[in-house]
Amino acid sequence: MDNKIISGKIVSAQIKEQVRAQVVSLNEKGIYPKLSVIIVGENPASLTYVKGKHKDCAECGIISDNIAMPDTVSQAELLAEIDRLNKDDSVHGILVQLPLPKHINEYAVINAISPEKDVDGFTAINVGNMNIGKDCFTPCTPQGCLDMLDYAGVDLEGKDVVVIGRSNIVGKPVAVLALQRSATVTICHSRTKNIAEKTRNADVVIVAVGRAGFLTGDMLKPGAVVIDVGINRNEAGKLCGDADFDSCIDVVSKITPVPGGVGLMTRANLLKNTIKSAENCLKQRKN
Ligand code: NAP
Repeated sequence: MDNKIISGKIVSAQIKEQVRAQVVSLNEKGIYPKLSVIIVGENPASLTYVKGKHKDCAECGIISDNIAMPDTVSQAELLAEIDRLNKDDSVHGILVQLPLPKHINEYAVINAISPEKDVDGFTAINVGNMNIGKDCFTPCTPQGCLDMLDYAGVDLEGKDVVVIGRSNIVGKPVAVLALQRSATVTICHSRTKNIAEKTRNADVVIVAVGRAGFLTGDMLKPGAVVIDVGINRNEAGKLCGDADFDSCIDVVSKITPVPGGVGLMTRANLLKNTIKSAENCLKQRKN
């Protein structure tokens, strides 16, 4: 069974090791990579995610600061803070933890972040550049899915890939990245008829719906690869993915676990993007 599991622990540890070495090299050149995280309100899940991001930065020598704002903050105050960070040369990455309170326009806030510091890859500029295959910050979770496939030696060229879910942060971008690797991509969503018929023909299934155990073994062709993006709690309160691991494991050739899978890759790619931004600064300094 173990040889079927693509471990996010192993892949993310490799990325972190590489990031640590890059930080040392940047420090020697007088650049101190820094990530600023804005968190609005006290959503428990958001607080946990943000804590994890700071811990990762600390482990890799990246400076991180936490800007906590109350959920009563006005959009103007939030935009002013982003403007300040955009102008601060010591800051390489800016991240606004989502979701934001309802009175704040998420699109306006995200797109106020300078695309050069948008390490989440959520601004329209970065999304656009990703779609046309230009250099950009690729969003962390979709990139993490591809990193795991790379680690497992799964070449997507000519493969049939089914993505379940079409959100802006996972489904759509991961489909674009798979297409750029010359896969034939089918995107399924809540209105798709007979999803199992599509997944049974897929070499790779990437599932991001947010429903525990949605993808079952009988929906897969033998030897398929499953990338499970979902993070859910089952009835017993246990963390689980969108794939029903127990029924999938006998059918698949490879599968990512939850926990210990894509979630760790999301975190690792945030570090990678922050370093990329710091390295871009170094390049600009040289020019
Ligand atoms: P989302 O914005 O809620 O999107 C869910 C997608 O699934 C939608 O496109 C929806 O279709 C589709 N869907 C829902 N029910 C369906 C059904 N019965 N049949 C087919 N499609 C269905 O969620 P998200 O932000 O993409 O996140 C998806 C999951 O990934 C969640 O569990 C989330 O916690 C997890 N996640 C994990 C990471 C990580 O780092 N591992 C990062 C982000 C998200 P419609 O568009 O038609 O409504």
